[in-house]
This record gives sequence, C-alpha cells and structure tokens, in this order.
Amino acid sequence: MAKIIDGNKIAKSIRSKVRLRVKTLSRPPGLAVIQLGQDPASTVYVNHKIKDCHRVNFHSEVHRLSENVSQNRVVPALISIDTILPTKDVDCLSSANQGGLLIGRHQVTPCTPTGIIRLLDEIGLDIAGKKAVCIGRSTLVGKPVGLLLMERNATVTYCHSKTENLATETRQADILISAVGRPRMITSQMVKPDAVIIDVGINRVGQNLVGDVDFEAVEKIVSAITPVPGGVGPMTRAILLENTLHLAEPNIG
Ligand code: NAP
Repeated sequence: MAKIIDGNKIAKSIRSKVRLRVKTLSRPPGLAVIQLGQDPASTVYVNHKIKDCHRVNFHSEVHRLSENVSQNRVVPALISIDTILPTKDVDCLSSANQGGLLIGRHQVTPCTPTGIIRLLDEIGLDIAGKKAVCIGRSTLVGKPVGLLLMERNATVTYCHSKTENLATETRQADILISAVGRPRMITSQMVKPDAVIIDVGINRVGQNLVGDVDFEAVEKIVSAITPVPGGVGPMTRAILLENTLHLAEPNIG
C-alpha cells in the first residue's frame, strides 16, 4: 500500500516555523483579503485564511464587497491583479511575478505549486531526473507546477483536455500531478506502479470532497499519494502564510 502523504502534518510544521519567525519581528506581518460577493465556497476559504493568520499571529483584514458594486466604485485592485504591487502579491499571480517564475528569478512562488514541491521534498523524493506529468495547464496550478518541477530538473510533460491518449502519458509518470477538477478520473489503469501521485483536484460528490484520483484503487499500486482532503489543500494555505512573511519581512526590518 502507498504511503499517504499527510499535508495537514507538514502544513502544521510550516506554520510553527512561521510563528517562531514572527516572534522575532518588531511588528506582525498583515494579510488583507478582498472578497467580492458572497459565494459560500469563497467565504469558507477566506475564513480559513483568517484562522490561519490568527494561528501564526499575523494581522489580518477582510473587506467584503457586494458583487453588485459597480466597477468604478470597486477598489482598483479588483479590476486587475497587476494593480497589486509585486512585492505584496502573496499569491504570486501578477504578471511581474509570473514572469519572474518563467525566467527563474522570483521572490515568491505560487502557493499550490510550491506546496506540492514541498510535499515531494518532505517524502524524501529526489525530483531531479524524474519524469513528471502534469494534467492541467492553468495559470494557478498546472503551468507553474511544471515550471517548478523543471527548475528542480524533472523532465516535464503537460497534459490537458486536448491531449490524445492521456493514459499513455500518465503511465510513464514517476510523479503524476492531477489538477483538473473531475472526480476519480485517474484510475488504477492510468498509473505506473511505484509512482508518486499528487491529487490537486477538489470535487464535491454528494456530501463529500474527493480528488481527481480514484484513491482506493490507486493507493494499492503506487508508492505515495496525497489524500483529498488533507493533502495539497492545507499546503496551499501554509505557503500563503510563508509568502506573506517573506514579502513583509524586508518592510518590517
Ligand atoms: P482549471 O483552470 O479549470 O484547469 C483545469 C485543467 O484541466 C485545464 O488545463 C484543462 O485543460 C484540464 N482538463 C480538463 N478536462 C480534462 C481532461 N478530460 N483530461 C485532461 N485534462 C483536462 O482548474 P484549476 O484552477 O487549475 O484547478 C484544478 C483543480 O484543482 C480544481 O478541482 C480546483 O478546485 C483544484 N484546486 C485545488 C487547490 C488546492 O489547494 N488543493 C488549489 C487550486 C485548485 P484545457 O486547458 O485544455 O481546458
């Protein structure tokens, strides 16, 4: 049976390190969240971020705006991510920070992809030389995780909705990252024995959250796998705190 990679445990240890570093600063870093509208899933995510800030003694602010607010009344930051200074862009989504990622010159790296690399490091996997297959090419997850894996000398293949013979690609992967958003699409026939499987997908099926991977079938074959929930999700939030601290520190002194 596969090793189950415990994202909650690793995220907790990241938060402990952040909390210790905050103690050495003259004032705490702050995280401001602007939420437009009242989408329940976004509200849950924002509340988690604020809870995380409390855990590490960050200052935090939430600005909840009505989605009916006309665009010229909304703060400029909502019109384009590029109105946020790159030095305050803790999600690493601005054009400047995404460009920095592309050329390998970055102050911070995006939260979910960075969390994935950290999970691989934590299980002691030597990424260099491994064949990594990323399913998904979004700006948020797929593309940047491929770049970070390549930076660590993996050989990277991107797959997406137009990929022909997906299973032929996935069966070659030493590291398989699925960031699609389709419940249980990765079956046991699509993975190589001993592969490491990182399931980024979050899908609601009835009352449950499941990933992109058919966990029960795949865990019998591979060497390590992330659960959903409790794998990549907590890492995304922990890296957000780390990025906030990293960008705030030079201003705090
Ligand atoms: P997205 O922007 O919708 O991208 C999905 C990607 O999957 C696209 O590149 C799409 O290809 C590809 N795809 C769709 N159907 C496919 C198929 N049948 N075969 C192969 N590829 C297919 O989604 P995202 O923002 O990257 O998020 C992906 C999933 O991760 C979602 O479930 C999201 O909720 C989850 N997520 C989790 C975290 C976390 O912290 N755990 C963070 C972010 C996202 P095309 O480009 O060709 O359309």
